[in-house]
Amino acid sequence: MRRILDVDPVNQRITVEPGVTNAAVSRAVAEHNLYYAPDPSSQIVCSIGGNVAENSGGAHCLKYGFTTNHVLSCELVLPDGDVVEVGGPTLDPPGYDLRGLLIGSEGTLGVVTKVTLRLLRRPEAVHTLVADFDSPASAGDAVSAIIAAGIVPAAVEMMDNLAIRASEEDAAAGFTIDAGAALIVELDGPGAECDTAFAETVALCQEAGATAIRIADDPEERALIWRGRKAAFAAMGRLAPDYLVQDGVIPRTRLGECLARIAEMAAKAQLRVANVFHAGDGNLHPLVLFDSTRPGESERAESLSTRIAELCVAFGGSLSGEHGIGADKACSMPKMFGAEDLAVMDRVRAAFDPEGRCNPDKVLPTPRLCGERPGPYRQHPLEAAGVIERM
Ligand SMILES: Cc1cc2nc3c(=O)[nH]c(=O)nc-3n(C[C@H](O)[C@H](O)[C@H](O)COP(=O)(O)OP(=O)(O)OC[C@H]3O[C@@H](n4cnc5c(N)ncnc54)[C@H](O)[C@@H]3O)c2cc1C
Repeated sequence: MRRILDVDPVNQRITVEPGVTNAAVSRAVAEHNLYYAPDPSSQIVCSIGGNVAENSGGAHCLKYGFTTNHVLSCELVLPDGDVVEVGGPTLDPPGYDLRGLLIGSEGTLGVVTKVTLRLLRRPEAVHTLVADFDSPASAGDAVSAIIAAGIVPAAVEMMDNLAIRASEEDAAAGFTIDAGAALIVELDGPGAECDTAFAETVALCQEAGATAIRIADDPEERALIWRGRKAAFAAMGRLAPDYLVQDGVIPRTRLGECLARIAEMAAKAQLRVANVFHAGDGNLHPLVLFDSTRPGESERAESLSTRIAELCVAFGGSLSGEHGIGADKACSMPKMFGAEDLAVMDRVRAAFDPEGRCNPDKVLPTPRLCGERPGPYRQHPLEAAGVIERM
C-alpha cells in the first residue's frame, strides 16, 4: 500500500496509502511549494500508517503540532472487516472526533488503509543556529528564556556530549565535539518577523552562557546540521553494539535535574546513556548503550530504560512523547494512570475490537497485573503477599 492516490495542491491536501513514507509525501508536493509538517527523525523510512498509529512528532512539531494536527481523515478496516472513514475533508466535521481517537491508538482499533493529510506552504524565511553550551542544564536555560520571550521556534533540539561525539563520527556535521551540549534552534515564517526573532534568539543564547554560536547561512549548511541531528540515533552503533531508545516527557524547566538523575542511575547500572531530545517540548530520548553479548547487560539495560521512563512520570511528565507505549511500556502504564483510567481505555478499545484482535498485548497492560505471564494460573507475588485478591 505505497501509492499516492491524490494530490490536491489548491486545497492543500494529499491522499496516500499507509505504506507511503513520511519523506515521500513532502517530495511528492515540493513542486507546489508545499510540504507535510510532521518530521520524525526516521522520516526516510517510517510510514504514514505508522505515523498515524503513533501520533508521531518530530523536530518541527514544537510549532506545527503532531500528526493529529495534520490528518484530515482516515479509512479504517475494523476488526470485524467493516471499512469505515473517520474524519472528513473539512477541518472540524460534526460528531465525535473518532479521527482524534484513532490517531495515536497504536493499531489497537483497526488497520488504516488510506489517509488524507494537510499540507502547508513552505515558509518565506528559515534561520538556523547551533549554540554550544558547557552543559545540558545551561542549554535548557536558553530554551526556557527563548520560550519565555514569546518566540515560537519551529524547532529546538538538544544533544549531549556523548550524542554529539557519535553523530560527528557518523555525519561530520561540524558540531563541537567537546561541547557539553549542542542546541539547534530553527525559526521560520515571514522574513521580517524571522529576522527580528532570530537576532533576539542569538542574544538569549549568549546570555544563557553559549560558548559558541554557528549560524547556518545557506540551505546546504542547514541540511548538514539536520543530517547530524537526525543521524544521532543510528550513530550510537559507533559507541556500543546495542542500544535502547527511550522516549519520555518532562517539564522543560526540570531538564538539568532530570538529566542528573539519569546520569546517577546509569552510573549505578554501570551503563552509558546518551541524550538527544526535542528540548522545546521537554521530550527526552535517552539512549541506553549496552552489549548484549555480555551476560546480564541486556537485562540491566532494559531495567534502566524502564526506570528512566518511570522517572519522567515522577517528574510530572509522561511515559511517552511520540514513540508510543507498545508492548515495551505497557507494564508501566499503571505508574501514570489509575485503575479507572485504564478501565475506561479498555472499554473504548473494546467498542472497536471486542475480541482483542488488533495489536493484542500493546498499550494496555494485559494481563492486568504486570509481572503476570499468560498461561495456567500461578499465584501473583502480590497475591501471595496478601496485597491484592483475585476476583
Ligand atoms: C532512528 C529513529 C528515529 C525516530 N525518530 C522519531 C521522531 O523524531 N519522532 C517520532 O514520533 N518517532 C520517531 N521514531 C519512532 C518511529 O519511527 C515512529 O513512531 C513512526 O511513526 C513509526 O512508523 P513505522 O512505519 O516505523 O511504524 P511501525 O514501527 O511499522 O509500526 C508502529 C505501530 O503502528 C502500527 N501500524 C503501522 N501501520 C499501521 C496501519 N496502517 N494501521 C494501523 N496500525 C498500524 C503497528 O502495528 C505498530 O504497532 C524514530 C524511530 C527511529 C528508529
